[in-house]
Amino acid sequence: MKRIWEWTGIDTIASREAEREAPGAGQVEIRIRSIGICGTDLHIMSGHAGFGEPPLPLGHELSGVVERLGAGVSGWQIGDRVCIDPLIGCGTCAECRAGNKHRCSAAGEIGLQFPGGWQEYLVVPAANLYRLPDSIGFDEATQAETLHCCLGGIDKLDIRLGQHAVVLGDGPTGLYYVQLLKAAGVSRVTLIGMQDSRLALGRRLGADAAVNLRQAEAGDRLPEAETQDIVIDAAGNEASIQLGIELLKRGGELLLFGLPGERIKVDVQTAVLKELRLLGSTNAPHVWPRVLDMMASGRVQVQPLITQRYRFDQLDQAIAFARDSSGEAVKIIVNNDEPREESR
Ligand SMILES: [Zn+2]
Ligand SMILES: [Zn+2]
Repeated sequence: MKRIWEWTGIDTIASREAEREAPGAGQVEIRIRSIGICGTDLHIMSGHAGFGEPPLPLGHELSGVVERLGAGVSGWQIGDRVCIDPLIGCGTCAECRAGNKHRCSAAGEIGLQFPGGWQEYLVVPAANLYRLPDSIGFDEATQAETLHCCLGGIDKLDIRLGQHAVVLGDGPTGLYYVQLLKAAGVSRVTLIGMQDSRLALGRRLGADAAVNLRQAEAGDRLPEAETQDIVIDAAGNEASIQLGIELLKRGGELLLFGLPGERIKVDVQTAVLKELRLLGSTNAPHVWPRVLDMMASGRVQVQPLITQRYRFDQLDQAIAFARDSSGEAVKIIVNNDEPREESR
């Protein structure tokens, strides 16, 4: 048996015992060690995401240890430390064959549409595992998932050394984008957000300036209009995207990464007249090895973003804190260092 946490209905979760599933051909059973709590989890739980059906264990930011191997699995051994790419494509369509399973119309994700890692044990395809370098701990490793989305966005931009960039949104993805832009050679990164503590963290992680939009003098401290080569929107709302369009130079690039919860209105006329390039970005299955390399080499830091840790049996408390802390939390991690004896 194993202990699992399930999303059970609008904003509710519950814990129960479940049968442990044996890994089938090509599959591996993972003992989950760390789980990142993500805004997407809260969004799904609210019932507004439009995907996932309760009851369902969520959890897509995952790391753990190989526990059992299914038939025909090679290259993995019991005890290997791994992180999990949650994205599963059909494997046969043109996009999947081209290595773009994130564009597969039949794709789904572990922890979004498929059972996720809010469990002591999870069976996943062996093809979705990445080996962790020794220097990356389990808690940090959960963030390879978030970081891979961000690095996929960076790859889409035409970044040149010495450019100026703005990151809109001071959540985890905004804080990762600050670090990636600096690593990519951008000379001045301005982080724009709503929470002083997160903005201060952004400064420590390399942002050259940080502006809190809630403060009266924010307007004076923003970069001038039409000065930025690159804007990354990691906030996903009408005001942030509109601000991005205003701040960009003519010919600049706007990376649309934050997901608006509804249809929004933006000033397309200005975008056309300024000849902006608007790019959408979600996942990037081919960048995982580079993400792990960036983490292992210290070019991207994850630890400073981890603000709270909970035990697996406190997952409901972790979710409640994520929902109620109004921005105090940056990244909450749930650990399961010691599974209970009876579940081994
Ligand atoms: Zn996430
Ligand atoms: Zn496909």
